[in-house]
Amino acid sequence: MKFLLTKELGRLARWLRILGFDSEYFNQERAGALIIKALRESRIIITRNHKLPQARGIKTVLLRNEKIHEQLIETLGELHIKADKERMFSRCIICNHELEEVSKKSVRDKVPEYVFKTQENFVTCPRCNRIYWQGTHWGNVNTTLEKLKLSQEI
Ligand SMILES: [Zn+2]
Repeated sequence: MKFLLTKELGRLARWLRILGFDSEYFNQERAGALIIKALRESRIIITRNHKLPQARGIKTVLLRNEKIHEQLIETLGELHIKADKERMFSRCIICNHELEEVSKKSVRDKVPEYVFKTQENFVTCPRCNRIYWQGTHWGNVNTTLEKLKLSQEI
């Protein structure tokens, strides 16, 4: 299941990526280009834009909530999906690309010394070269998901 989020949903796109969902973010106004991309890449459009024209063959989720946590619950509820612990933290939050594991040695000069000393596992994004580890913005994700009760296993 792949998503395409319209420009007002940048934060939600980042959250869906944290959960491991393939979530592209479309930051332009042009509805035509949005629909073509959704069709070409078989993506479900997620939007808060009521005026967005409905196109045949494309599933669209129209969100009502304004708050990010509620949007997340609404999205997963509408699509009858749950956060899967196995897939979490597998995508770059910024560019949606799948992350790859890298050796600790190889990041020695690229992360703060404190991080290098305290962390064992690192992953990197092949597109933007960002390096991630458990202590980064992922830190409080589990807590948030627990609060939201998005997955019973988390
Ligand atoms: Zn990236």
